Amino acid sequence: MSINHAYLSGLMDRVIARNPAEPEFHQAVREVLTSLVPVVEARPEFIKEGVMDCLVEPERIIKFRVPWEDEQGNVHVNRGFRVQFNSAIGPYKGGLRFHPTVYEGIIKFLGFEQIFKNSLTGLPIGGGKGGSDFNPKGRTDLEVMRFCQSFMTELFKYIGPDTDVPAGDIGVGGREIGYLFGQYKRLRNEFTGVLTGKGLTYGGSLARTEATGYGLCYFTGCMLQDAGRSFDGETVVISGSGNVALYACEKAMQLGAKVVAMSDSAGYVYDRDGIDLPYMKDLKEVRRGRICEYAESHPGAAYHAGCRDIWSIPCGIALPCATQNELDLDAAKTLIRNGCFCVSEGANMPCTPEAVDALQAAGVLFAPAKAANAGGVATSALEMSQNSMRFSWTFQEVDDHLKKIMVDLYRNAKNAAEQYGTPGDLAAGANIAGFLKVGESMLAYGII
Ligand code: NDP
Repeated sequence: MSINHAYLSGLMDRVIARNPAEPEFHQAVREVLTSLVPVVEARPEFIKEGVMDCLVEPERIIKFRVPWEDEQGNVHVNRGFRVQFNSAIGPYKGGLRFHPTVYEGIIKFLGFEQIFKNSLTGLPIGGGKGGSDFNPKGRTDLEVMRFCQSFMTELFKYIGPDTDVPAGDIGVGGREIGYLFGQYKRLRNEFTGVLTGKGLTYGGSLARTEATGYGLCYFTGCMLQDAGRSFDGETVVISGSGNVALYACEKAMQLGAKVVAMSDSAGYVYDRDGIDLPYMKDLKEVRRGRICEYAESHPGAAYHAGCRDIWSIPCGIALPCATQNELDLDAAKTLIRNGCFCVSEGANMPCTPEAVDALQAAGVLFAPAKAANAGGVATSALEMSQNSMRFSWTFQEVDDHLKKIMVDLYRNAKNAAEQYGTPGDLAAGANIAGFLKVGESMLAYGII
């Protein structure tokens, strides 16, 4: 699909030529540039002053070796990455992903998305992302600790509370953040809010664990309300069973919905009576088990190997919360056929562009990841504020801030879509609203 603007179309060609074999990064850039056509038509200075060219080029990419030793004495060498993409409105901020599929293109796509997401929160944070092709699955705590210490021994040179503040993502939860923070503190000999998602005993924020999933439901709730609907009484399907998925499930249930399916990378469970969330949390957060075990202890539930068919379960609301490009055109068509009226992205870029087009064409309410899952990073920024103040807010206070941020964010995306001629298209609205604050700041700095 070409971009309907000569300069931006040429820029897209240059991005592909300069970043070969990075399809996820190309996909993310194309989506944003397409949305920004009406903006650069109204404000040609964004092109003339080089803002658009700078926007698609990371300020810095750090790539490093991560050697570590397993419990049998074998040495492994992984690759670590940190992409410091854009600091126009604040220190780089974005998670670390530990997963075997990680390579530079994945981190660039995530870092690029993070620029706009962070801007949309209204908080002063720039865009970055990092990670490694290390697979924590099946590793002992000792091995994960050794890996995290080695990773931080290199990364600590490039981050800091006013420079770059990493957090968790796929494969990086409370355990990993603890090991990373401990090593940073040891190397720097300082106790600062350099990572977010920390444990509550050493500077973490209440409600950070819940924030992405809860925020997703707050955002979706605004969108449903505008359409005269709500979660109450609806059937919901959620992919994934990690941090985002579990707390999206919890909030959707609190809002009166029935969640009937969840998945992991091996398969999904369908429980027509509604997912037993306390069991699922214990299985995934405490025992680090596989989702097939759920069906073994819940006779009414069925386990299906493979993830794709989860979208064939009839539902009103679908929340893809696992990974990128997990919901394709076929899945979108099946959802539409089965009466699904709302898809909200909890994961980053979980719907393929073809799926998004089909959903929007069918009038399905669509919430884009950049906006809908921004509650996590917003609450990370609240953790940074609490660390700077050396003070902690209550769960209720953080949750109230989160709710307000998600409501404001929804309104901003909606208003930007209307102002730039694509009313109702929250994906375009989120890109435009996220870009404007960053773009204006870049204009103010001149060519740097
Ligand atoms: P977790 O590691 O906690 O959970 C990821 C879940 O997705 C697991 O159930 C995992 O299954 C599944 N999964 C991972 N990769 C695949 C795959 N290739 N195919 C199918 N299933 C897969 O990660 P999070 O919940 O933190 O993150 C989920 C998504 O949300 C990601 O896209 C992330 O970037 C995004 N996100 C996360 C935020 C956060 O605050 N945590 C903030 C904003 C976005 P298995 O256990 O089998 O690997």
